[in-house]
Amino acid sequence: MTAATAPYPHLLAPLDLGFTTLRNRVLMGSMHTGMEDFFWHYDKLAAYFAERAAGGAGLIVTGGIAPNIAGWVSPLAGRMSHRGHVIPHRKITRAVHGEGGHICMQILHSGRYGYHPFIVGASRRKSPITPFKPRALSERGVRRTIRDYVRAAELARDAGYDGVEVMGSEGYLINQFLVEHTNDRRDSYGGSLANRQRMPIEIVQGIRAALGPDFILIYRLSMLDLVENGQRWDEIVSLARAIEAAGATLINTGIGWHESRVPTIVTRVPRAAFAWVTAKLKREVGLPLVTTNRVNTPEVAESLLADGGADMVSMARPFLADPEFVNKARAHLAADINSCIACNQACLDHAFQGKRASCLVNPRAGRETELNFPPVQQPRRIAVIGAGPAGLEAATRLAARGHRVSLYDEADEIGGQFNMAKQIPGKEEFFETLRYFRRRVEQTGIALHLNTRATAEALANKGFDEIVIATGVRPRRPAIDGIDHPSVASYIDILRGHRVAGPRVAVIGAGGIGFDVSEFLTHGRPAPSQDRELFFAEWGVDPTAAAAGGLIEAHPSPSPRQVTLLQRSRDKPGRGLGKTSGWAHRASLKHKGVQMLGGVAYERIDEAGLHLRVDDKARVLAVDTVVICAGQETRRDLADDLEARGLACHIIGGAKLAAELDAKRAIREAAELAASLD
Ligand code: NAP
Ligand code: SF4
Repeated sequence: MTAATAPYPHLLAPLDLGFTTLRNRVLMGSMHTGMEDFFWHYDKLAAYFAERAAGGAGLIVTGGIAPNIAGWVSPLAGRMSHRGHVIPHRKITRAVHGEGGHICMQILHSGRYGYHPFIVGASRRKSPITPFKPRALSERGVRRTIRDYVRAAELARDAGYDGVEVMGSEGYLINQFLVEHTNDRRDSYGGSLANRQRMPIEIVQGIRAALGPDFILIYRLSMLDLVENGQRWDEIVSLARAIEAAGATLINTGIGWHESRVPTIVTRVPRAAFAWVTAKLKREVGLPLVTTNRVNTPEVAESLLADGGADMVSMARPFLADPEFVNKARAHLAADINSCIACNQACLDHAFQGKRASCLVNPRAGRETELNFPPVQQPRRIAVIGAGPAGLEAATRLAARGHRVSLYDEADEIGGQFNMAKQIPGKEEFFETLRYFRRRVEQTGIALHLNTRATAEALANKGFDEIVIATGVRPRRPAIDGIDHPSVASYIDILRGHRVAGPRVAVIGAGGIGFDVSEFLTHGRPAPSQDRELFFAEWGVDPTAAAAGGLIEAHPSPSPRQVTLLQRSRDKPGRGLGKTSGWAHRASLKHKGVQMLGGVAYERIDEAGLHLRVDDKARVLAVDTVVICAGQETRRDLADDLEARGLACHIIGGAKLAAELDAKRAIREAAELAASLD
């Protein structure tokens, strides 16, 4: 391939670090998978990393490994503090090196964020995100902790790692030392800026002195804390220069502490929204910088490097979604990449629930040794009914295995519920999943029958070997007096544009769809969600990073409608939303003035509006439109017809179980079925 035709010339250019050369500028960023915490999962973890190295990642960073017990994120988390810890890690490093990759171990001390009783901090101040109160490290304790970092790095080299990443951001221990907000010490590690910065500098100096010059040392530096009284820009610059002088090889970008109330990585964050912060620091230091946050396509990554704002791009979740990200980019096949949609549903939400991380759009992530799709010896004729997420996943996986698949849907396009999700401001990434599936349908030679209602009779006549029912759900129509009143609309009417809501709206049902519809109704059209300036104004981020912590007063744009979101239960609205994204959903609706009302009983809908009782008091919400988002019911008429004819079928996704349906479960069930049909 000539230089003129080489795709992504900046992204795919090697990076010479002096003592070693990385094959490209793509760093697979640290992501806690849950597997690093148990040595019996290390074969699985090795397979997971090996697949990403084979897929072309230039440099991989593991999930966080604690340098001592106090640094555990949760009880019995992965730790590197004695020789016995080294052996399982060798499986990982051998596997990655076998695929021509480089790998660093991340050393993460959770500090006051730890979820166990042995946590320590720069001071005794409790964090808002765990119930445990930290013990303040003594000065000797700080020195011992620094030695533990150095020891962890030495052991990491024994385990075969090419380097380490020192986690100095996201609000973990090191970050806690840097600001007075969490550091009220009066010893040599508190008080003046020089004292507050002493700990990370001594860690980097200590590792470099112990390991010599030919060991990659990445420092993840918090470039924007996004918490009250966070670091000022001049403090960040002075720390970056000191870290460079102390011997770091690369500085990686950290944005926001975990307790920050500004979303930094979820799907509503515009792509590469924070890359300008890395570019700003680039003018201040000489060592290579890595930029990150919401980069999920090679185009965006390439443009960040071409602009000169960074030397490498870190992507973590995109490698769960598609281990072949780099190879596909190199082969001019970017359109074939299964893009991360930044939903967090199977990766970070799992990590925070203590479950093994996976990926909504790629359920094989984290299960590389268990969920496989080998070619079949004897292809079968398989009908898949329903081209929503479950049907698409099943059909494309089955066809890729060599089965002859016919895919049917009544609609004139594939995608099912994803065609509604993509309409929600901040959820535009669903277009990417639809693009990916469209390509897979073409590539796998599936016979696609749109605008076709499959009947039991027709399926029986065609004599398929297997039938997969993925007919999904239909919206529940609650039994409320006046449900047929002209002011009532279903969420499908609204999201598909068949109806336009008036200025005053009641949304019945505060689940995932009620929240999404409220988001849709309270944004102007077209949705401004990829507009960084509006995003920063809404969430109060200083676009110059001059303010302490990068925070300024928020100025959300006003909602064009007055929306009331209702539920019968007294639970927190949106209780089922993701752990790492639900809070942002709630905050966004609050910015837009959405009223949330629980404990209601619906009485009737008429010209006056929606009549309800709250705490036994009658009330009328004078609204122009009532949107029904009252959950879903299974659509399994076809499955019942088939069963009546004695024809067996496999039922997956919403058609199987509408309660607690979500795309994650639907796609996982589809993949598992496809793996099992030999
Ligand atoms: P859902 O999350 O189960 O919510 C259904 C809502 O309807 C509840 O608030 C429920 O509250 C109400 N409801 C149920 N039966 C009712 C009835 N007979 N009359 C009046 N209200 C009734 O379902 P969904 O909103 O349709 O979402 C479907 C699935 O997609 C869910 O699993 C959801 O998590 C997922 N989803 C997720 C996201 C996300 O951002 N992660 C976004 C969209 C959808 P009360 O019973 O208290 O009234
Ligand atoms: Fe990305 Fe969602 Fe997959 Fe996580 S679960 S890697 S956010 S697509």
